[in-house]
Amino acid sequence: MDDTASYLDMLANEIHSVVVATTDSEGHPVTRVIDIMLSDGETIYFLTAKGKAFAGQLMDTGFIALTGMTGGASLDRAHASLAIKAISLRGTVECIGQEKLDEIFEKNPYMAQIYPTDASRQALVVFCMEEGEGELFDLSTKPITRKSFRVGAGEAEAPHYPYLIGPACIGCGACLAVCPQDCIKHGKKPFEIEQDHCLHCGNCWSICPEHAVMKR
Ligand code: SF4
Ligand code: SF4
Repeated sequence: MDDTASYLDMLANEIHSVVVATTDSEGHPVTRVIDIMLSDGETIYFLTAKGKAFAGQLMDTGFIALTGMTGGASLDRAHASLAIKAISLRGTVECIGQEKLDEIFEKNPYMAQIYPTDASRQALVVFCMEEGEGELFDLSTKPITRKSFRVGAGEAEAPHYPYLIGPACIGCGACLAVCPQDCIKHGKKPFEIEQDHCLHCGNCWSICPEHAVMKR
């Protein structure tokens, strides 16, 4: 399973319930919790009822952002947050009608208690993500781990790294002392941020006497 397939599998089968954001007719954000019903390794599928405002917003904008997390549920408050893995994903969605509805009910048997009859299921429509960009944020590793991934066949965009060290770095080491994740490689100049472990805190940018850390 490649990274995208494993992160989508985690969304559908481990996290399952996520918070999804859309915008209403006035452009204001609206969120709700939905279940990610299926993953086929390339995209995710979810459903809603045609009568819900959510369905209208999906049809109007064709775009969502979602976040879900897993881990830490059995731990006390002092330890729970450090066991969390979160996946965030944003992108365009497409309505596929009732395609995949039977498979969704087969893999998610609790749905039959919410929509018990074929007649009641006529209200449902299935959506899938066409193209999107996602990120895994894993607080359970030391240092933390970030991994970008892509959904859909389009050209992958270069990952967005908010902090980069440029050639003006003189190797003074000031950034090393304030980096909370110890994720700045300092073997040679310019120093280099290990992007998969960066917390995006901005400490290196704030302290650098040479303004060698670029904020983007
Ligand atoms: S503080 Fe700036 S100049 Fe000093 S090592 Fe870090 S990036 Fe380089
Ligand atoms: S942004 Fe924060 S975590 Fe990332 S390299 Fe700079 S100091 Fe370290």
